[in-house]
Amino acid sequence: MLSKPCNGDTIALSMSESVGVAAGLTMTVLGCSGSYAAPGGACSGYLVEGAGVSIWLDAGPGTLANLQRHLDLDTLDAIVLTHAHPDHWVDALPYHNVVRYIRKRVGVQVYSPGEVRRLAEEVNGRLDPAFDWTVVRDGDRTRIGALTLSFFRTDHGPETLAVRIDHDDGTSLGYSSDTGAGWSISELGAGLDLALCEASLPLDQERTVQHLTARQAGISARAAGARRLVITHIQPGVDSAESQRQATTAFGAPVELAAIDERYEITHDPT
Ligand SMILES: [Zn+2]
Ligand SMILES: [Zn+2]
Repeated sequence: MLSKPCNGDTIALSMSESVGVAAGLTMTVLGCSGSYAAPGGACSGYLVEGAGVSIWLDAGPGTLANLQRHLDLDTLDAIVLTHAHPDHWVDALPYHNVVRYIRKRVGVQVYSPGEVRRLAEEVNGRLDPAFDWTVVRDGDRTRIGALTLSFFRTDHGPETLAVRIDHDDGTSLGYSSDTGAGWSISELGAGLDLALCEASLPLDQERTVQHLTARQAGISARAAGARRLVITHIQPGVDSAESQRQATTAFGAPVELAAIDERYEITHDPT
């Protein structure tokens, strides 16, 4: 199987990365390019599934097309949009059209900062009843079935919310969204089973803008005690293999590189 990592290269997926035992949560990468999509790629988007709940976590351009390889559009329960930068949410607009005009569903749950909702309304008009949209802020927490979602403000231009997802069986996933070095994964709480962290920048651009290098992502995940680290949101043109090496050195254990269609089985290890 071939897969596209964030910077647009094509790599072979090793089976050991995509095969796992029955798990509390799975996370499938729908897009992972930082800021804009690499050729044939897509911006940030992840399908998180657990306890019969399906969540589209960020809806960057290109991710609606890829979502359909993994899910019937009628079975999506919720969409979480972390901030108003277009590489994280604009595919929610055509999905809204799918829901209201074609599939004619009502009440698809959406969670986002207020600015994303305002922009969506400006483009698509009335959002309900197709979408049941809840504005969330730093410190908010919500339940979707057996999953608890917690939101944390990061160090990034617009109001940006990192997300922690906890399954009632103890399995946890933390997603940084976009952030600078003024925020750390530790703020999501200790002992994440998997941390999905942005690593936009090459090393020579560290601390130049409100994004992280892979080295900073590794340091942050290690300090938080995360059990696994997947780096994502790598900007096209950045040497992703070098980013993976830097993250691995800083994390102190092998770090995985997000790639479109790759599926991560997340299990809980209480030790
Ligand atoms: Zn971004
Ligand atoms: Zn951003």
